[in-house]
Amino acid sequence: MTDCLFCKMVSGEIKPDVVFEDEKVLAFKDINPQAPMHVLVVPKLHIANLNALREAALGGHMLKIAACIAEEQGYAESGYRAVFNCNDDGGQTVHHLHLHVIGGRRMTWPPG
Ligand code: C5P
Repeated sequence: MTDCLFCKMVSGEIKPDVVFEDEKVLAFKDINPQAPMHVLVVPKLHIANLNALREAALGGHMLKIAACIAEEQGYAESGYRAVFNCNDDGGQTVHHLHLHVIGGRRMTWPPG
């Protein structure tokens, strides 16, 4: 989608701080990090949100990449959180599916 921020990152029109890329996903540092590690894993295909995800394997791939990034950044043992926000009540502000991977501080529950 031409007016989608994350599509522009996938296409290279906007250059995020990339930590991982393969044929299906791009992962980059969140511009407004909520913890020492805050990475977004986004599918290269434009998918608006979790409701619109049709390919279960792609969701699984995103989660696997999240775990690999947490491991690579040294947070696998201490712990981290992987979150999809969906639509308004879920806190989604960018309407291109993304998985937040957040770690490096103690999380609280329930989330705000
Ligand atoms: O789940 P939600 O849609 O709110 O998350 C969007 C995320 O995209 C935010 O954490 C925000 O900081 C991030 N973002 C970014 N780069 C931008 C705009 C937003 O990393 N240019």
